[in-house]
This record gives sequence, C-alpha cells and structure tokens, in this order.
Amino acid sequence: MEDDTLTAMPPHAFSPQGRRLALQAMATSPLDVLVVGGGITGCGIARDAALRGWRVALVDKDDFAFGTSSRSSKIVHGGVRYLEYGHFLLVRESARERRVLRTIAPHLVHRLDFLYPVFAPDSLLKIRAGLQVFDWLADSDEDDWHSVLDPAGVREWLPGLRDPLRGAVKYVEYITDDARLTMENALSAAEHGALVANHAAAETLFRDSGGRVHGARVRDRFDDAVYEVRARVVVNAGGPWAQEILEGSGLPVEKALRPSKGIHILLDHSRLPIEGATFLKSRSGRRGLAMRRLGYVYVGTSDDEYRGSLDAPRATRDEVLDLLAMVQDCFPDAELTVDDVLATWAGIRPLIAEEGRSTRDTSREDEVWTGPAGLVTIAGGKLTTYRRMAERALAEVRREIGDPPDDVDRTMDVRLPGAPAGDIGAFNRDRAERLAEAGVGSETVKRLVWLYGRQLDDLIAYGEEDPAWLAPLADGVPALRGEVRHAVEREMACTLIDVMDRRTALLIFSPDSGLAGAAEAARIIGELLGWDQRRRDAELAGYRTYAREHRVPPGNDRPGNDRPGNGRPGAGSAE
Ligand SMILES: Cc1cc2nc3c(=O)[nH]c(=O)nc-3n(C[C@H](O)[C@H](O)[C@H](O)COP(=O)(O)OP(=O)(O)OC[C@H]3O[C@@H](n4cnc5c(N)ncnc54)[C@H](O)[C@@H]3O)c2cc1C
Repeated sequence: MEDDTLTAMPPHAFSPQGRRLALQAMATSPLDVLVVGGGITGCGIARDAALRGWRVALVDKDDFAFGTSSRSSKIVHGGVRYLEYGHFLLVRESARERRVLRTIAPHLVHRLDFLYPVFAPDSLLKIRAGLQVFDWLADSDEDDWHSVLDPAGVREWLPGLRDPLRGAVKYVEYITDDARLTMENALSAAEHGALVANHAAAETLFRDSGGRVHGARVRDRFDDAVYEVRARVVVNAGGPWAQEILEGSGLPVEKALRPSKGIHILLDHSRLPIEGATFLKSRSGRRGLAMRRLGYVYVGTSDDEYRGSLDAPRATRDEVLDLLAMVQDCFPDAELTVDDVLATWAGIRPLIAEEGRSTRDTSREDEVWTGPAGLVTIAGGKLTTYRRMAERALAEVRREIGDPPDDVDRTMDVRLPGAPAGDIGAFNRDRAERLAEAGVGSETVKRLVWLYGRQLDDLIAYGEEDPAWLAPLADGVPALRGEVRHAVEREMACTLIDVMDRRTALLIFSPDSGLAGAAEAARIIGELLGWDQRRRDAELAGYRTYAREHRVPPGNDRPGNDRPGNGRPGAGSAE
C-alpha cells in the first residue's frame, strides 16, 4: 500500500500527510516520552504528557482505537457494579471521571437512563440501598438521583420484560462513541505538540549498553520506512498486546496478561423497543446489558478467556446465539432470531492474570509498573478512568526522568477538540437547524449531532464551499460525503476501514455495515490520497470482508433458543 500522492491535501498535523511529517520529526531528535499504543490509554497518556509540555510521540500499529477501545460497551459509567464487590474508591473515581468527561467532552458523552430490574425472590430494597450509597459516593446531581419504578413503570421503559418482576431502580449513566473519544484524545495531543502517527508499529524497543530502554524502531505500515525513535522513557500502552510488545523485544514480563473476550450484538430498535439501558438477567442467571443508541439497541457482553488472534477477535455464531437466547429469555415475546442481528463486535479485556480467579472475577483495575529502566507499562483499567490512568503512568515516567517542565495535570480543564464553547444543547440545536436548512435529512442530522460536536462546523463549511459535500454517501445512507473528507483531512484516517469503522461508526451502526456507502467513500478517499483504481478496489474488497466478519457467521443451528450458554449461571458480564 502507498499514500504518496498527498499534494491535494492541506498539511494538517492530523492528516495522512501530517502523520508522515510526524514520523520524520520523531526520528530527528530525542523525545521525553514515546507512547506505544493508540487506544484510549495511550492517547490519554500522550495528551496529558503534551499538555505538561513534554516532547512526546504516539504511535499505533494500526489505527487509533483499533483494539479494545472501539469494541467496548461504550458506557462512561459511575461504577455501580463495583459496589457489589465493595470497591468504594473505584466507584468514587469512576463517578468523578464521568463528571470530568461530561465537562471536557459534552458532545460525546450522552445521558442514558439506566434500569436495574429486580425479579422475585431478589430484594428491591437491597438494590435501592446500593443506589443510595452510589448517589452519595458519586455525589450525583439532583437530576441524576435514582428513583424506584413499579413493574408497570418498568415496562414503559422495557416493554415485554419477563416476570416475576418486582420493579426496578432507575439511575443515570452516560453513553459515548469510544473510537471517537479515543481519536479526539490523539487529536488533542497533536494540537498540543505531540507527534502522532497511526499505522506505525513499534517493532523493537531498544536498550543501551546499561540495559535501559531508550527508544523503539518504528515501521510505517504503508511504505515500510523504518524510523529510529529515541526517548528518555517509553510507555507501553499496548492493551492486550502489552505482553507481546515486551516479549517481542526480549524484555521480562513482570505481570502476565489474561485476555478475556466480550462480544456485543446490534439489533434494530424496532425489534427490541427499549428506552435507555438496562441490566439483563435471564431465569438461569445469565447477565448482560442492553443499550439504546439512536435507532439501534445493542446487547453485551460475554466474558470468556481468549487465546485467539489479538488482531482479529470476532464474535462466533455460538456466542451470538448464547447472547440472543439470554435476551429472548428476558423478553419472551420478542421472537428474536439470528436474522435480527445486524452486526457484532468483540473486544479483548487486557486483564492482569490473578492466580485462581476466573476472568469474570479478575480485577478490572489498571496496573502500572516500571522495568527495565526506561520502560513504563500500563495495562487493565476502563475507558471511563483513562485520564486517571494517564496520571498514574506519568507519575512513573516522572520518577524515571526526574521533574518534568510542568507537572500540572491540565487534562481536566482543557476540553477535547470537538467540545463546543457554551451550552451543548443550544449548540446542537443551532447546528441541527443549519444542517436541516442545508437539506440534510433528519435521521442524518440526529446521527451527526450525536457524533461530532464542533467538527459539525467543518462539515457546514464544506457545504458552503460545495453543497455536494452535504449529500448522502448513497441513497438512504444517513451519512455525508463531507464526513469522509473530514475523516481524512482532519482525523488522520488513512484507509477505508479507518473511515467506516472508527470515524463514522457506519460499520456497526448501520443496517448493512455501511456497504451501501462504501464505494463512494473509497472514491472520495482515493481522490484525496491519490489512490489508483487497484488500490481503491483492494480497499473496497478488504472492507467487504471486514464487514462480513462483523456480522453473524453462517452455520447450522439446533432449533429453539435453549442454547447451552443460557444455562450457565453468571456467564456473561455487565461492564
Ligand atoms: C467487551 C468490553 C466492554 C467494555 N466496556 C466498557 C465500558 O462500557 N466502559 C468502560 O469504561 N470500559 C469498558 N471496557 C474496558 C475498556 O474498553 C478498555 O479498558 C480500554 O479500551 C483499553 O484500552 P487500551 O488503550 O489499554 O487498549 P487498546 O484499545 O486495545 O489499545 C492498544 C493499542 O495498542 C496498539 N498496539 C499494539 N501493539 C503495538 C505496537 N507494537 N506498536 C504500536 N501500537 C501497538 C494496538 O493497535 C491498539 O490500538 C470494556 C472492555 C471490553 C473488552
């Protein structure tokens, strides 16, 4: 693959051209910190380090959020689940971070009413007491305080929920687009001086004669160019790959990882017409979550030890059927079949192995450790708490290199690039009106407002330049041609998959994996990046395969919904 012809592109730091300049720059003079891994953890660390004034670079071997950070349940959560285990500090931290994220990314963190249904013989009082403690620990706003619903009230939110229902506790969580949240952290890092490149793998970490790690050999995936990047400290934020990164360079693995896989399935909202989100519990005790996002409902998640390819975790047909059976058990009249599943995704939790514990019981907390000298590794944790994880990782970095130029954590005050100034509701209403006036359809407007924030102004400006940028990618596709241009010019998308999966979310959140618009998207990217016909065809063919992998694999099933997984009490997890 190549991306040589970038002459049509403005030299934006966060474009494919800016990416190449960043790679060249990171190899010319030593850095303070090189961050390996552009998931939420690495992007959060790079942003924090850049805001402190350090010379920092960030590389990802594929794209930002290529790994777990685009495959989560996408909930910015206050940590209600940790109450069950008595992890009060974690609840406090999650709740605090949730508040911070609502401030720095109001365009990407949306309120979601969450129901915790209680079935006989369980006690509603117990859950209610738990939520009371939660509201106190989380210092919840009055608007967010929990309330109690009787069975009729519950079924207004969750029509058809099974019996014997006692009622539910309703409280508030927040939903996000995890891939865009991650990308915006990388973009923010770049805006504050970090040298950032996706599709650039750290192949080997190198050590000096004293054994200290002092950089990495980084390979550009597109032209195979190799860059020797030197840094006072390297941070290994490789998520599920953290162990592989150490082993690949012959470095000791102080804490082994125990990858665990979780899958989700996507349904059209009309097939499971719930409002908000809910914990699910089947009669056999299997648990999960269901969440509404615009015209869709997604359900997750499983929690199984994983030994397959870290690069391509996929939901198997059996896993999908197990999850579907659990939903069907919770909503007996729904008559869901495998044909209702529009998309699937699978993510790997980078859990730290704990002797004698199942993946479900293994702590979700992050761990940071140094060793050998010059190398800080961080693994585990949550999307919600990434900012605090960055603080902890940088405290170790600081110990390694002495006092930084500026030790003030500014990540709480500096908003993410898409966050508009002022009231988010007013901003969204105004931009929605302007898009509608420009002829953009109402479904598309809803989707755009949900995803973009201030970047809507770039799209509107494209439309003023040429209204064709505000035309749909194809008839009936609720996405604009301008989004593709924006993804390339300002969000460093370099491939069709980058655009369709992690910038526009069409891979998962559209009825046909975005295939109807994929050819036009490939054409636009091709024009911006100078792809020849062969490259366009290859990108399109690659995307079709990728899309197929995110649907239910074909197979012969036993009739009925009595899947074996449905009888495994406690299997599945509520993130
Ligand atoms: C099913 C599931 C649901 C979840 N739901 C939630 C939720 O609702 N809320 C929440 O707060 N948390 C949730 N989590 C947890 C959260 O998603 C993860 O903790 C987080 O995304 C991990 O991010 P990471 O950056 O550590 O790893 P990743 O996102 O996997 O990032 C690692 C990156 O390293 C890159 N990389 C690997 N090797 C190299 C190399 N040699 N050179 C350069 N780059 C490299 C990869 O390409 C990848 O992009 C969930 C997790 C799972 C699995």
